[in-house]
Order: sequence, then structure tokens, then C-alpha cells
Amino acid sequence: MPLDPAILNEMTLAEKIGQLTMVTAGYATTGPIVAGDTTAALKAGRIGSLFNLWGRDAVRAAQRQAVKETRLGIPLFFGLDVIHGFRTIFPIPLAETGAFDIALWERTAMEAAAEAAAEGIDLTFTPMLDIGRDPRWGRIAEGIGEDPLAGARFARAKVQGLQSRDFAGDGRLAACAKHFVAYGAVTAGRDYAPVDISRRTLEEVYLPPFHAAVAAGVASLMPAFTDLDGVPLSANGDMLRGVLRDRWGFEGIVISDYGAIGELIKHGVAGDLAEAAALALNAGVDIDMMAYAYERGLPDALDRGLVAMATLDAAVMRVLRFKEHLGLFDDPYRRCSGSEGETADRRASRRVAAREAGQRSLVLLKNEGGLLPFGGRHRRLAVIGPLADAPAEMLGPWASAGKGADAVSVLAGLHEALPAVDIVHAEGVSIAGEDRAGIAAAVEVARSADGVILCLGEAAAMSGEAASRARIDLPGCQEELFAAVAETGKPLVVLLFSGRPLSAPDVFARAKAVLACWFPGSEAGRAIADVLTGASSPVGRLPVTWPRHVGQVPIYFAARTGGRPENPADKYTSKYLDLPNAPEFPFGHGLGYGDIAFSDLAVDVGERLAISLTASNRGERDDEVVVFLFIRDPVASVARPALELKDFTRLRLAAGESLRLTFTLTRGRLSFLDQRLQPVFEGGDLEILVGPSADRARLLSTTITYR
Ligand code: BGC
Repeated sequence: MPLDPAILNEMTLAEKIGQLTMVTAGYATTGPIVAGDTTAALKAGRIGSLFNLWGRDAVRAAQRQAVKETRLGIPLFFGLDVIHGFRTIFPIPLAETGAFDIALWERTAMEAAAEAAAEGIDLTFTPMLDIGRDPRWGRIAEGIGEDPLAGARFARAKVQGLQSRDFAGDGRLAACAKHFVAYGAVTAGRDYAPVDISRRTLEEVYLPPFHAAVAAGVASLMPAFTDLDGVPLSANGDMLRGVLRDRWGFEGIVISDYGAIGELIKHGVAGDLAEAAALALNAGVDIDMMAYAYERGLPDALDRGLVAMATLDAAVMRVLRFKEHLGLFDDPYRRCSGSEGETADRRASRRVAAREAGQRSLVLLKNEGGLLPFGGRHRRLAVIGPLADAPAEMLGPWASAGKGADAVSVLAGLHEALPAVDIVHAEGVSIAGEDRAGIAAAVEVARSADGVILCLGEAAAMSGEAASRARIDLPGCQEELFAAVAETGKPLVVLLFSGRPLSAPDVFARAKAVLACWFPGSEAGRAIADVLTGASSPVGRLPVTWPRHVGQVPIYFAARTGGRPENPADKYTSKYLDLPNAPEFPFGHGLGYGDIAFSDLAVDVGERLAISLTASNRGERDDEVVVFLFIRDPVASVARPALELKDFTRLRLAAGESLRLTFTLTRGRLSFLDQRLQPVFEGGDLEILVGPSADRARLLSTTITYR
């Protein structure tokens, strides 16, 4: 039976506000837990949803209090940050974005949803759709890299994977697109700092992934902690009502970020909690997460006429309808009944998915002389470095219910993959410490072996929320460890673990091979061993431009050239005195073990553009490749980016195989925003570029005229 709005007449003001109040209840928090008796508040109907509580027994107990012990018996819903897995942890989102693999994106979301739903969770605060162009920002790890088109496809795949057609279905979760919007543009890459971007950049870069999530039916959305043009997103009616509800037709619920409504006071737009609560509710925030601003501020705000009861009622109805849609009024225990966990087979198949996702997210940055894969070449292998035997670190930031003890380290993965090889290990240095005492022993271990795998990088906690870094280099004494080990002259493979691109010029210059591992998740060691040994190929690509130095950031391939593009021979052009503009590695970079080349670009100009090219695998192994389609509009009423990504696809080619593929572009997909930010198609010359990365030198290109 559909929910009767008359229910509002039975609710006291406190009960209504309770439905709009979300409280943390357990295992993981990202901010202060406000003191108070959650149980008493729950029984009084002053809490409508909980987060950070999982496990069928715990969820059932809390749900029973809501259903049996409150006056109206309205069930709770349960949220959790299932960012890249629940207990089985997949690669961090930045890494997974680099797989450029829509089927994989969907599949890992589906797996994570099923695992969390089986433990009582209804809603996850994912996907995080913040474009990241500044690797100082720690949350670049949780996001979708630098490109809006890739981000929009990731958004759609994740919403689809988490929710399927209906998030109420078995094994599904309601998704929450966050953080709306432009959080990734925080000043100087410092978390929570102000954001100052143009409307054009907002429209062209930061909004599209959210629009894609809304179009895919995302159930909920979370405003960013930050502001836009001085208006914090938690109070930003232009964005939350204007763009989200009116322009895009979003009908889901809006959940504040942790304590964000209270922070409107510190932002300097509210004088007290009543004003803060009124601003947020009027702007369209339905649920207050952990600020208690609605509980403590809304009664006063109503008295003072800052907010209308009708606005409050509309928010309450949205929340109740969401619960109704989840089926909670029919069966509040639907996700927490029974004591049977998932079967062992089901868990094992999820680990297989994690291993595959891990493999597919690794990016081979360098491979001089074809050092990798090393197959059965070694008799004695030295596995060195602070991240060699660090299972918990492999999970990366925000690993939900993941356990370090369940994760496979590099060392363990290699032992398993290479039982006949004598594997010797030394830590050398810790990730961040100043103690160099272990370097000498590590060098001895390296000398004793015929190959070295050096595992360097960041700790998991060095990226993610509240983990921005002003330096983006190897922490601690790892550069010294690297230099000492490199000095041995042994064939050297560096495995780089990080939540962001790291500036490590010596490593890129001197190591023979470098694999960007990011944080691969629970199956890290096995996934890495698969790629090192050649059991599988490295197929990941960079979802972000990889700078040489922190001084180059923000850095991204789509930047406009300006009127004085870099010319090394001309001082008065846009460049540095001490570094080239070019990054260490371009967006899309990533080597395979095969040898795939592109040729014969042809464009058929008709009603649409049909852009064809041939991909040929000239190598001796089957391999995969990502083909990117870029455009460059050389003359337009508004200066266009140096390169714009318009499409990408992933191909698998058997050794010796060639195939012809075609992309199509319509006028609609070639339109852009004119000077008044209205979409326009301006015909004329258009450069079409296709190939393996955003490095122009490696792209096939042709210029056509299209009107
Ligand atoms: C983060 C959100 C997260 C929330 C709940 C906040 O600190 O910004 O991304 O969903 O905490 O854990």
C-alpha cells in the first residue's frame, strides 16, 4: 500500500525532524562523534537513519528498537561508505577508473553491494564523482581522475552496478553520488579549502559525472563540504534545487556530509544553528548527517519564520518514500534477518573478481628492454621495501569492513606464484620514518639476488579524506633506499603504491621497470604477481596526468593553450624556467606486454562523423589496449581545450590480429557552451586525434571540415 501523506499529521515535530536526522553508530567515523545517548534518541523517534553500523545482528537490534519501541514504529535505514568494497576490497576508485573497463566497474560495484547488503546495509555513500586534477588533494584517490567523459561513464556504471534497475532489489544498495560539486577543485589541493572555479569549468568539467549519475537513477546525493562562489554546497539552493531537481529532474534524497550543516556557521553564512538548519533545508538538504542542526536548530528556525513547515514536510515525505521504496515498511528486517552468511563459494568468487580488478588496475609506466614479464627467469628474487610485506596497506584508504589480515601482500603473492624461486626479503626503511639503519641489509639482500622488486610508496592513510600532501614525493627515506638498491646494478622493478601520482624522477629515470599499483585491494599480492610473471598482462592506463613535480599541479591534458603556448626557444611563452611543461606520463599512458599499433585513420563526414582506424597486434602475445578519441577545435567563439576526450574503447587483440574500429560523433556531441554558456554547434575545421594516450606525439590525427 503506498505511503499515505496523512502520516505527517500523526507525527510530532520532533518525530518529523527525527526522520531527517542521521547518526553514526559504530565502527568507523570521519569526524567527532557528538556525545549523546543514541539508544534513547532512537527510542524517542529522534533518529531516522544510522550509518557505520553493520552486521545482521547489530542492524537487527537497532531496527527492532525503531520498529518496536518508538511511537510510530517507522523503520530505520542503514548507510555505510562502501567506497571500494565492503569486506572484500577492490582497488581504490582512482585505480579502477584507470581500467577504463565499464563491465569491470559495474561488476565490482555489484559485488560490493551484494556483500554489504547481506550484512544489513541499505545505502552506500558512493560513487564519489569528484574530478581530481591536483594530486596534492588526498581524495583524488577516492575519485574518478581528471576527465569528465571518463568520469560520467564511471558514474553510470557504478550506479548501475550498485543499484541495478531497482536499488530495493536483493543484493542491491541505494547509491549516493558525492560530493556535489567541484570538491576536487579545493584551493592548493588542501582538503576542505575554498573552491573558486569558473561557471564554464563547473559546467564542462565538474557537473557531467553527477548528471550521468542522476540520469542513471541514483537514489541519493551528498553536497560537498566546500563552497562554490562563496555559497557552501550544503546551503546552495542554486545547485541543489536549481540544477539538481529543476534542471535534471532528480527525485531522490539529499544527505548532508558529516557535520556539514553545522559548519555553515564556520563558513560564515549562518549566525547560529537555527539559521544553518534553515539554510540547508531551504536549499534542499533532506537529511542532516551528524550536525544535529535539524534537531537543535529547526524548531527555532520554524518559530522565527526562517523555514516553512511545508518545506520540512516535503523533506520528511521524501525520506519516508525512500524507506518505502526500500521495502522497509513491508519488512524492516529484510536485509538483516537470518544468521546464514554468504556461502564459501560466493565469497571465493568475489575474491576472484577482486584479483581480476587488481590486475586490470595496474599501470605499467616503464619497461626498459622488456624486463617484465619475468616469467621463470629468476633463481633468487629480492623483494625489498616498506610495502613488500604490508598486507593492511594494500587495502588503501577507506577500506570499510576490509581487514588487513585478509589481504595478500606482495611477498605472499610472489611466494604463492613462484614456489620454486628463492625469495628473500628486507624492509629497508619504514614508509615514513627517518631510520636509515636497515638500508645496508637491504642492499645485501639485493646483491645476493638476480633480480630486485622494490616496493615503495605511501601508506594507505596518506591519501583519502583529510590526507592532502604539499609534497607528493616518496615519504621518509625511501628515495635513499631506492638510490642504494639501484646502485647494485641488479635488474630493478619498482612497484609504486599510492593514492595519487607521486613525483619520483629518480625512480622513473633509473629503475628498469615501474608498475603503478595504486592500492589494489584484498588480492593485491596475487594480482601483482599475475602481472609480474606474465600470467596476465598489465592493461590499466593512467586516469590522471602524472606530473614530474608538485610545482606543475594542477595539471591535466585538457587545459587551454593560451595565447603564448610553450615554446622552449621563446622566453615569453607559457612555461617554467626550471622544468618542462610536459608531465612525467600523460593521461592514458600505460604499457602492455604486446605490441599494438594504430594506423589508417579515416573520417567519413556525413550527417555524423564516422572515425575509423586499424588496431594491429604485431606482438607475440594476446593483448588489450584502450583507444582514446580526442578532438581539438582550432577556431571557435570560445577558446577550446588543447585536447578534449570524446570517446574511448577497450579492445582485445590476439597475437597477429588486426581489426578496424569506428567511433561516431554527432553534432550534439560536438557542441560546447558559448559565451553565455548556452550549447552551440559551430561548424568549421576540426582536428580528430586517436591513439593510446593524451601524448599528441603518439596520436594519429587529421583535420576535417564539418558544418
Ligand atoms: C566524507 C563523506 C562520507 C561521510 C560519512 C565524510 O567525512 O566526506 O565522503 O560519506 O564522511 O562517512
